[in-house]
Amino acid sequence: MRRTDRRTFVRGVAALGAASAFASPLRAQAQSGAARLPPRREFTIENAYVMTMDETLGDIDGASVHVRDGRIVEIGEDVVGGGVTIDGANMIVMPGLVDTHWHMWNTLFRSFAGDRPEDGYFPTVARFGAQMLPADIFQSTRLAAAEAINSGTTFVHSWCHNVRSLAHAEADIRALAEVGVRARHSCGWPQGMPDTQSADQTPIETLARDWASWSHEGLIGLGMAWRGQFRGGPIKPEVYQPEFDNARRLGVPITVHAGSRRDAVGQIEALYRGKLMGKDVQLIHAIAATPAELDMIKETDTAVSVSPATELRIGFGYPQISEMLERGIRLGVSVDTSALTGSSSLFAVLKLARDSENARAASEFKMPARKALELGTIGGARSMGIDDQVGSLKPGKRADLIAIATDALDMGVVTDPAHLVLEAAGPENVDTVVVDGRILKHGGKLAAIDTAKVIAEARAALAGVRERTNWR
Ligand SMILES: [Zn+2]
Repeated sequence: MRRTDRRTFVRGVAALGAASAFASPLRAQAQSGAARLPPRREFTIENAYVMTMDETLGDIDGASVHVRDGRIVEIGEDVVGGGVTIDGANMIVMPGLVDTHWHMWNTLFRSFAGDRPEDGYFPTVARFGAQMLPADIFQSTRLAAAEAINSGTTFVHSWCHNVRSLAHAEADIRALAEVGVRARHSCGWPQGMPDTQSADQTPIETLARDWASWSHEGLIGLGMAWRGQFRGGPIKPEVYQPEFDNARRLGVPITVHAGSRRDAVGQIEALYRGKLMGKDVQLIHAIAATPAELDMIKETDTAVSVSPATELRIGFGYPQISEMLERGIRLGVSVDTSALTGSSSLFAVLKLARDSENARAASEFKMPARKALELGTIGGARSMGIDDQVGSLKPGKRADLIAIATDALDMGVVTDPAHLVLEAAGPENVDTVVVDGRILKHGGKLAAIDTAKVIAEARAALAGVRERTNWR
């Protein structure tokens, strides 16, 4: 590999950013406040180690990636390319990471779940969540989305179960659009709503009616975050069925927590018997799944999201990653909540996914590093139904990619690239992040996000919530 000329690289990308102020103010951008995003420009990353995560293309050393109009044009050693040249020497280029379930609305409460039962995650989220205004949701989700881009996550599933009004949902979507991340907003219910009450369908119905004006040129999809049949205890069919039926009527994908902890047995079978699973349904955690229930998940082609960082942190148990992959279940990994995990880097989550599988099997060799990376890229994309667009690097796909700089003390020798990325990469090693052809991070710096402003405004929002809840 050639020595990286970082100055040439930075100059090239700075030239790309300079034109951003003149981006055309499309309606969606105006509505979302996203007019400051850099435009999609033509560029070619040259001489990189490219992990395509595509079965046919595999890894290519010394390769170029040519991007135009937000799309990957060509990948290979002999690519002529076009547009601005980016030096990829000493870089590992791979697809952007795909998160599949993240309560971004509560990132404002990062690491606030305490050490005593009364300070635990669920009671505190319910209490403080009830005091959140739309502006607080915006600040929380924007902080999370900015962290996602910074750490190489190019797709997020914003699992918004604090929709206290249409304005709360709109705030979540606006924050995603402002940062420029690819996303799904799954519209849920308000924290603290009694289990005897159905969720108000007005927000999701309103959004679905006019989704084109919210979708940020198709970058953001709409789904329903469904409470399901169990929350504090069983929920009655007359409460949950109309919610589920409405999602199907609107034609939006459904996501639900099920079998979350080891003792939550029978919940997945109950969904199966109620005909509440399918290709358009995603189960979260599914830790309690029996072999028979795993077969039901496979039979119905239901997707699953596991979040080892929170599942281990909160004591839910170990995710059944190998059992799901052996059956060919569509599986992705997720952050879940920064209130429990602190940092929301998916690299750390993927490492825990591999490590927990090896620990359960008492084997160094149970889960190959590359399998774990697949979970965070093409596997996650498949589980979200977006693998035709992203998740691997291949001509024709949308350009969601990252470049990891290996010229750092914690990455400094390149041995096996898949092991190195899984075991050593963190947000600080992510040099470049591209979403839909827009370069949102370069030279290790965010291109369109005022980090100091995002943090200061999130802190002010948290101070307001603290005051309204008399939180000492
Ligand atoms: Zn969750």
